[in-house]
Amino acid sequence: MKEQIQERPGAWRLLLGSVLIFCTQAGLVAASEFSFTLADTVNCGGASAAEPGELLVRFVSRDTAPVTCPDLTGPRTARAVREAICGQVLAGTSVHQQYDGVVPGLTLVHLPQGTSVTDAMTRFAACGDVLYAEPNYRYKLHKVPNDPNYPKQWDMDNTGQSGGKKGADIRAPEAWDIHTGVKGFLIAILDTGVDTTHPDLALNLWMNQQEMFGKPNVDDDGNGQADDFYGWDFIGNKSDPVDDVYHGTYVAGIIGAFANNMMGIAGVNWTISMITCKVADKDGVKLDAAVAAVQYATACGAKVINASWGGPQYSKSLKDAIEAAGKKGVLFVASAGNGSVNNDKVPVYPASYDCDNIISVMATDANDQIAWPSNYGPKTVDVAEPGLNVLSTTPMKETESMTKDGVTAQYGALTGTSVAAPHVSGVAALLWSKSPFLSVYHVKHILMQTADKVVPGLCLSHGRVNAANALKAVPTGQLGRVLNTREPNNFYTSIQSAIDAAQDGDTLIAEGKAGSNTMFLEQIDFKGKAIP
Ligand code: CA
Repeated sequence: MKEQIQERPGAWRLLLGSVLIFCTQAGLVAASEFSFTLADTVNCGGASAAEPGELLVRFVSRDTAPVTCPDLTGPRTARAVREAICGQVLAGTSVHQQYDGVVPGLTLVHLPQGTSVTDAMTRFAACGDVLYAEPNYRYKLHKVPNDPNYPKQWDMDNTGQSGGKKGADIRAPEAWDIHTGVKGFLIAILDTGVDTTHPDLALNLWMNQQEMFGKPNVDDDGNGQADDFYGWDFIGNKSDPVDDVYHGTYVAGIIGAFANNMMGIAGVNWTISMITCKVADKDGVKLDAAVAAVQYATACGAKVINASWGGPQYSKSLKDAIEAAGKKGVLFVASAGNGSVNNDKVPVYPASYDCDNIISVMATDANDQIAWPSNYGPKTVDVAEPGLNVLSTTPMKETESMTKDGVTAQYGALTGTSVAAPHVSGVAALLWSKSPFLSVYHVKHILMQTADKVVPGLCLSHGRVNAANALKAVPTGQLGRVLNTREPNNFYTSIQSAIDAAQDGDTLIAEGKAGSNTMFLEQIDFKGKAIP
């Protein structure tokens, strides 16, 4: 079940001097449970290998001696205890990395050469000191081959230039009239790396000042990595997250290509700080790298994580990591996958995990129709965004993968839910950098409630995210203003008048001027409506 947002009926969150926000339980519709079978894996077309010789194991955290080795005495580090358990379970196994910063007990274990991953997994899973054990999966990047001659950014402003429908876009120009982003708003891109030399991206990449002016080989800012100037390469375990594919550089351009610089393209955010986390190479995303990157991005203070990849393999490690990030207020935006299948029946992870802080994204074309390769899911996909023949940045020099896939250097067009997800990440960043006090759930609600309902029945919100409407639905600090995110252009002067006009399932936001200690002193009658 997708969990609903827990708001106690009548429990109003009063933020004196800032805003008062309340949401209905119906804002997030519950999804029915789905089953996952081997047949689904085959249908999905996303089956990919796991790393040989590696296992992700979550050990039980306890103060007493492990049940596997009860004689273990003396003060020992968690690593030493885990090494001892590993030795008991399967001789020759060793601890390689620990991810306690995001999921307590989670550990990457190296197996002795020639060990079957399935066999080792069975042994670890049977151990009383282990919560779960799973293969170190590989996930696919959610892009598909493309028409290379695509000229304009129809996704931002569709004037029918591609033969598409005028207005079938994210409403970027109207949104940019309101807000264009903030330098210092942190968004993490978990992908193939980013070309830091791209002139359209360089200024909007996060530059870690504490490390740049810090000591060499020291983790000056305490985020777990030393000398991480732009981010981290979790594949090569090194500081320079170079994009040797092209996918990450493309995603970065959608979220935050520097605008107004007389060149190239404009990102959804004209100014932003993008943290590069390399979790994938040309063979796809490594699960352990993704888990490590979620831990790192959260430690860096990122508010949004973009994941334009996935696969049929359910990983408890990744789900636990995403949930833990959610508890720290991080929104995880994931692409629904490219297989033209219903994710309600054929889930794609991480998009299909039942986590409140995940927003699952399908793709539309220039006519506001579902893009041909996109998955969908009336109960498990949240929103849609453009994802067919969309222009963005690519590495300055052609990589092997670009030659193979026919992607041009510097700028190129791509198709798939890989393209759609960073649009949503970008709009979430716009919203959040304008109104930093919004919670992860409010950001998700606003994106869903203000979407243009162009894909009815294909996702929970039935719609393509509308950046302008989403921005209009966030509080601006005007005194005594109440708005309903369903109709972001209408304002009410009292909470009761907004309730009177609202329908079941609406989200109302009552705001007071920042710093003015505004209070709404009203007797409220919900009149039986589904608004807490
Ligand atoms: Ca650091």
